[in-house]
Amino acid sequence: MNPKDRMTAVARRLRTHYGPVRPPRPEPPLDLLVRTILSQHTSDRNRDAAYAQLREAFPTWDWVATARTKAVADAIRGAGLHHQRAARIQDVLHRVQDERGTLSLDFLAKLSDDRAVEWLLSLPGVGKKTAYVVLLFGFGRPFFPVDTHIARVTQRLGLWDGRGDPHNLLAPLVPPGAELELHLQLIRLGRELCRPRAPRCPDCPLLGLCPSGKQSVQSPPGKETR
Ligand code: SF4
Repeated sequence: MNPKDRMTAVARRLRTHYGPVRPPRPEPPLDLLVRTILSQHTSDRNRDAAYAQLREAFPTWDWVATARTKAVADAIRGAGLHHQRAARIQDVLHRVQDERGTLSLDFLAKLSDDRAVEWLLSLPGVGKKTAYVVLLFGFGRPFFPVDTHIARVTQRLGLWDGRGDPHNLLAPLVPPGAELELHLQLIRLGRELCRPRAPRCPDCPLLGLCPSGKQSVQSPPGKETR
């Protein structure tokens, strides 16, 4: 089976296993951007706690932009690297304010996909994953963000070999229109079954499609082979 057909089969099996995803609650794109910046190199739980504390301490983005950086850092301490992240968030807010005259990313709706990505990538500290999350979840654009779970699961599935940029390699394999659902379901699989250590391959709905899973089921760690 070629990689594109395998990705289509993965999407189908995950939908059968988990059911269709519920559309996430709409969120302003700037909120998504800040939350995704907070998610870099930290757990979802720490990110959510830090984001909630930030919004409680500073109810508007104007307040965050004009606050002392130390006060912003204190609010997001739980996410780790808080001084660096606070400065980055403020840099992004200042750039949006200076360039657009308002703290909103709604103008991206009027740009082409390429121009919107280019603009987001020009922001300090914003990479493809963050830009694609904003465009996929904030604007319903057909981008496929690859986080650490998706990178690991798709590598085990033999959809890429761990070299190069997974965004460029995986996006062409995703069935059109399946970007959001597949993104969320691969992350769920990565958290629940295809964990970094000791993946639960015998329970996995993708076992029949997965070279790594088949190998580990045939030769589980610790089993002697003669
Ligand atoms: S079969 Fe195992 S390695 Fe393959 S995707 Fe499932 S849990 Fe991950």
